[in-house]
Amino acid sequence: MSEKRVYIETFGCQMNLADSEMVLDALAKDGYSVCDSSKDASLVLYNTCSVRDNAEGKIRGRLDHLKGVKKERPEMKIGIMGCMAQREKAELLKKYPHLDLVVGTDQFVHMPALIEQLEEQKQIAATEFGDFEDRNWGSIRKDGINAWIPVMRGCNYNCTYCVVPNTRGKEKSRDPQLIEEDIRRVVDQGFSQVTLLGQTIDAYGKTLGDGTNFAKLLRRVHAIDGLKRIRFITSHPKDITDELLDTIAELPRVCKHLHVPAQCGSSRILRLMGRRYTREGYLDFVERARSRMPDVELLTDIIVGFPRETDADYQETVSLMHEVKFAGAYVFMYSPRPGTGAWNLEDDVPMEEKKARCNEILAIQLEHQEQWYKSLRGKTFEILVEGPSKSNPERLSGRSIGNLNIVIPRTDAAGNKRDHLIGDLVNVHINDSTNLTLFGDIEE
Ligand code: SF4
Repeated sequence: MSEKRVYIETFGCQMNLADSEMVLDALAKDGYSVCDSSKDASLVLYNTCSVRDNAEGKIRGRLDHLKGVKKERPEMKIGIMGCMAQREKAELLKKYPHLDLVVGTDQFVHMPALIEQLEEQKQIAATEFGDFEDRNWGSIRKDGINAWIPVMRGCNYNCTYCVVPNTRGKEKSRDPQLIEEDIRRVVDQGFSQVTLLGQTIDAYGKTLGDGTNFAKLLRRVHAIDGLKRIRFITSHPKDITDELLDTIAELPRVCKHLHVPAQCGSSRILRLMGRRYTREGYLDFVERARSRMPDVELLTDIIVGFPRETDADYQETVSLMHEVKFAGAYVFMYSPRPGTGAWNLEDDVPMEEKKARCNEILAIQLEHQEQWYKSLRGKTFEILVEGPSKSNPERLSGRSIGNLNIVIPRTDAAGNKRDHLIGDLVNVHINDSTNLTLFGDIEE
């Protein structure tokens, strides 16, 4: 196959999605077209996640499968990028001799040159770290409404369960001027919303050393004409200052939605996790946020079954869930990861117990959402219409200025399609709900 066709599958977080969009742009400039299946591709890339072992297990499955395909089509190139590539480096090439490329989290923008080198070298691992050049790398974005905009890379914390400091390196904030230029470009392309990305986005600016901080960046982004909504993820409880909360409260196009993982309700376990705040410190953040923005939606991550988590510790997480009443929660069972601080702690909570704790926290969250969503029936929200609903294409879905997922019929009473509303803000009256979705219709 002489035609250059790339298939990329992205796992894990939105930072990986943004990196995949950048690599597709670099490849498009090198003559590649994008295809939807590995069957049609001359280059297959997996952008990987190492946060949990089962995420890496999926990649191992994909690679095992491609072994046979590569025998039939030896000219096809296979590459691994992202956190698993950075973590395992050239070892992956030894484990999978049919793998051509391993490209680390600071090297993927050089993909076309690396592929060219494959003409002279059988396998390549490019995993050098720390020299990611901050400039306006292009991106090929599929979405059309929301553009992911990385504003920093890496993380300076060392939470003991987390691989990110190993796989993405030290925190590095991008130049605000380059961020602004990226955003102006996506607005010109017709995007209505940006989501600013960073592992600890509220720490933005520290590495620039010129007084820039995330509150100032938000003000700068908010001043860009044509943007309807500004979102951002993820925040660390320790870095959310009063200045930042005041800024979010003040700026009307900044979403009132904070993804600030609590991880656990027990101060004892938080200390073992290296989170650098206590239960009381987290609750203080919640109070500071809600005193300024009573309707702010708080999203958390929770890890159950961290080493040494007793039932009493776990009950503190249960009580935190009841006390805070989060708008959403991602709940995970602890999974030991090589190279992390907790790797040497005995993984001593039995799997059955982890599953039970995970299910209970999820049930608490869904119960809360169900009650809360019921209380929203009869209310009106302004939503940004994002496109056809993934679960039912007869509906359009959008999100509120918080993060409420609200769906409306795709056709109006006269049977006319409403797709022209995609990318617009409309007022929606809520008339029904489940524990995951709110249903409504446009308010005339
Ligand atoms: S703050 Fe902790 S959990 Fe988040 S990326 Fe950094 S080390 Fe990982």
